[in-house]
Amino acid sequence: MTGSDRVAVERVAAAIAAARSITVLTGAGVSSASGIPTFRGEDGLWKKVRVETLATADAFENDPRLVWEWYDWRRSIIRDAQPNAAHHVLAAWARTRRATLITQNVDGLHERAGAERLIRLHGSIWHVRCWSRCPAGRADWLDERVPIGTLPPSCPHCGGMVRPAVIWFGEPLDQAVLDRARAAAACDVFLTVGTSAVVYPAAGLIPDAKVAGALVVEINPDATGTSHMADVTLRMKADEALTAIDELSDLR
Ligand code: NAD
Repeated sequence: MTGSDRVAVERVAAAIAAARSITVLTGAGVSSASGIPTFRGEDGLWKKVRVETLATADAFENDPRLVWEWYDWRRSIIRDAQPNAAHHVLAAWARTRRATLITQNVDGLHERAGAERLIRLHGSIWHVRCWSRCPAGRADWLDERVPIGTLPPSCPHCGGMVRPAVIWFGEPLDQAVLDRARAAAACDVFLTVGTSAVVYPAAGLIPDAKVAGALVVEINPDATGTSHMADVTLRMKADEALTAIDELSDLR
């Protein structure tokens, strides 16, 4: 850790120790140390197809088998992965500091680390629902098969196609979930961890927190679209930064 990182970690630890309310927004970078590829950067490629052309309803309509092959591949990586120190520190903060965790991740690793009251903005890779929204298949259901079997899988109710129950690019978020996240952005300390902050409305929580007067902390090895809004920037990996903050805040 550099000297300036150390100073920043101490500042964040002091703020965490004194805060009455803490909210953490996480993205794919939090699961990077668990071996799960992020969307953007070198890792973002799968069979040389860009994610923006896979994670959409149009892509599914055009080639449901290709989209499901991609989800099957992601599921196989996630199933074999374990939560890392970042997930464990955040789960502990949710328990002991009543921190609110908001995630864009669909991998379920926060839950596997024991995170309480998690706000899941983009759904779960382990849930599916009927593509044609037949009355009996409208609600999401758990399907944790890896591999999932015949692709695309079929709805047990109407025999039509089943889709992953995640929010794809261009699809609206659940309004009640978004409202809870926006309410939680009004806090004393808001950390944005491992997200490129380019996917909206999730990224909009960062200016929301700023406007509400939170101390905004960014943890990311690289600059992001909202770095200029951060009061404290830690150019560190999520697991290393959160472990260091946690150790120091416990001493206060
Ligand atoms: P993203 O791929 O756009 O950005 C990842 C960010 O993480 C980058 O800014 C990168 O610099 C940073 N990063 C990489 N390694 C890191 C580390 N060790 N510690 C901290 N930061 C690190 O991901 P995003 O911003 O979450 O948004 C895109 C969408 O990606 C979301 O909707 C999410 O659903 C989806 N996604 C989820 C998963 C997952 O569930 N694990 C994986 C890939 C993408």
